Amino acid sequence: MANSLRYFVGNWKMFGVPGSYKILDKINQFYHKDQKNKNKYKIIMAPPDTLIYDFSKRFKNKKIIISSQNCYHQDLFGPYTGKVSPFMIKRLGVNYTLLGHSECRSAGETDEIIKKKFSLALKNNLKVIYCIGENKIQKRTKSTVKVLKKQILKVISKNNNFNNIIIAYEPIWSIGSGSIPSPSELKKNITILKNFIVKKFRIKSHPKFLYGGSVDKNTIKHFKSIKELDGFLVGGASKSSKNFIDIIKNFYK
Ligand code: PEP
Repeated sequence: MANSLRYFVGNWKMFGVPGSYKILDKINQFYHKDQKNKNKYKIIMAPPDTLIYDFSKRFKNKKIIISSQNCYHQDLFGPYTGKVSPFMIKRLGVNYTLLGHSECRSAGETDEIIKKKFSLALKNNLKVIYCIGENKIQKRTKSTVKVLKKQILKVISKNNNFNNIIIAYEPIWSIGSGSIPSPSELKKNITILKNFIVKKFRIKSHPKFLYGGSVDKNTIKHFKSIKELDGFLVGGASKSSKNFIDIIKNFYK
């Protein structure tokens, strides 16, 4: 049910200065030496906007793909101080963007705003890593699947091309907390959602799903057996080359 290629995606959030490219250099070196597994996965890293241009040039012919962490919901140029449009992101040589991260949602992004970003990003030929996730109360009241389905339906539409969409399931209660869902619960939810999308959007193959939330070199072992997962979105542990590399090493151990 998982596509055989796995994705290890890092989200640096508000972290990094120009010299931080060295972290990616080390990850890139590891990748090239990883003869046994390197054809089984892709590495995508989302540094802040300040570093995207430099990093996308530096890693252009290397194996680390650069993503943005977000983009604005208006395109091209305009009177929007501090904002960066999908068109501007694409012109930096970037092919991916995260959208709908819970930290952006809690800063005021609604499903409607995310939907606009989503279609503009796809229109600009950016692939979208769309983040969804339930909060603690929604989990406690067993509304997880309902919340996730709603987040999917509010943003994705029938004419969107699933080849350019990766969904990242990130329970809000798990982000940065050290708590993770049980593997059986995670497997069950991902399976339900993949089947739901296939049916609802009438697509032929299962969409790609990542898991994100407190993934590190220790927790990764709990996810190894979940074949339905196509990879991981890593926050805190992506800021250190060693931690990020250890996640990949332990996944394939
Ligand atoms: C994230 O913010 O996308 C994330 C998954 O964070 P962390 O890995 O630190 O929980």
